[in-house]
Amino acid sequence: MSNKFAPEYIQSLKAYSSAKSQKLTGSTWLNANESPYINDYDISLNRLNRYPDPQPEAVINAYADYAGVSSDNILMTRGADEGIELLVRTFCQNGKDSITQFVPTYGMYKVTADSSNVALNNLTQTDLINAPVEQLVEKSNGAKLVFVCNPNNPTGNTISLDRIRSIVSAFNDKALVVVDEAYIEFCDELSSAKFVNEFGNLVVLRTLSKAFALAGLRTGFVLSNPSLINTMRKVLAPYPVSGIVAQIAEQALSSCNIQRVKRQVAILNDNRKALELQLRQCKQVVEILPSNANFVTVRLSDKKFIDSAMQNGLIMRPFTLYDQDTWLRISIGSEQELNVVFNWLIEING
Ligand SMILES: *Cc1c(COP(=O)(O)O)cnc(C)c1O
Repeated sequence: MSNKFAPEYIQSLKAYSSAKSQKLTGSTWLNANESPYINDYDISLNRLNRYPDPQPEAVINAYADYAGVSSDNILMTRGADEGIELLVRTFCQNGKDSITQFVPTYGMYKVTADSSNVALNNLTQTDLINAPVEQLVEKSNGAKLVFVCNPNNPTGNTISLDRIRSIVSAFNDKALVVVDEAYIEFCDELSSAKFVNEFGNLVVLRTLSKAFALAGLRTGFVLSNPSLINTMRKVLAPYPVSGIVAQIAEQALSSCNIQRVKRQVAILNDNRKALELQLRQCKQVVEILPSNANFVTVRLSDKKFIDSAMQNGLIMRPFTLYDQDTWLRISIGSEQELNVVFNWLIEING
């Protein structure tokens, strides 16, 4: 269905089908890479008649400390998804510019480009890992933004810091390299955040939705040099962050809660290894992609096994990758949730 009042490029969009928009029925939810932990927060409702701080200082300072950057390197957004949108709106001209992504990768880069009438250059993860950097620049065809997801969703693979540095250098005055670190807490030694002041063209995206167990809060951060941050700030809505959200984010970034998140990350990483072990024993699992995040993506021998899980209320995320529709991304949940996966694996193993 389209509406004549919208421009052609909006009329031709398909509604984004996110993990949560599909109205599935289930009892075990391992499809959106959410944390299984529920942490407690206190809020005060006293000042809701007033507009909030556009960039809440206490949160910005706490995140700067946590990420090892300064407060003028940070912009707080409504999730990393808003960071992606903000980058495209700030740096790409509608109908003229393009972005580069390395497929298969996170779906929001394409969704944002399409809805902004910005073209997409599709390179591959193999290019990202192996191609000479000069070739990446050449194949990028003058793109304004180059999205590097590290670790990559949905494949789980990572890029070394040396490789990222040489890519950022190669693009120096040609394009901004955006490193999406939504899952970086699961392998935090691989973060590029420490380089944001060293390069004029590096942007890092972060979120509280994954390791911090706050997907429902809608909080993300853009980390970059002050010049790029100030440019994006011109485009960002005047009061993007609700005061309630800021109160919770500040508590989530207390040193005591950060310690708790680190303990939870260690457990989730152990649970991932336990899941990988079980996956390796299942005959119907024909390929397991090595992951450094809170999910594992596998290829099954037949799509009917994915359907059987879904029908039994075990909701994971099916993908078509490399033209095969038998891929499945399994989020790392609690031990109890993973036991449901183990039982399904035993059942399909026959
Ligand atoms: C989940 C995810 C995001 C979105 O994070 P929000 O902060 O919830 O908007 C961004 N990038 C990647 C790669 C993700 O997997």
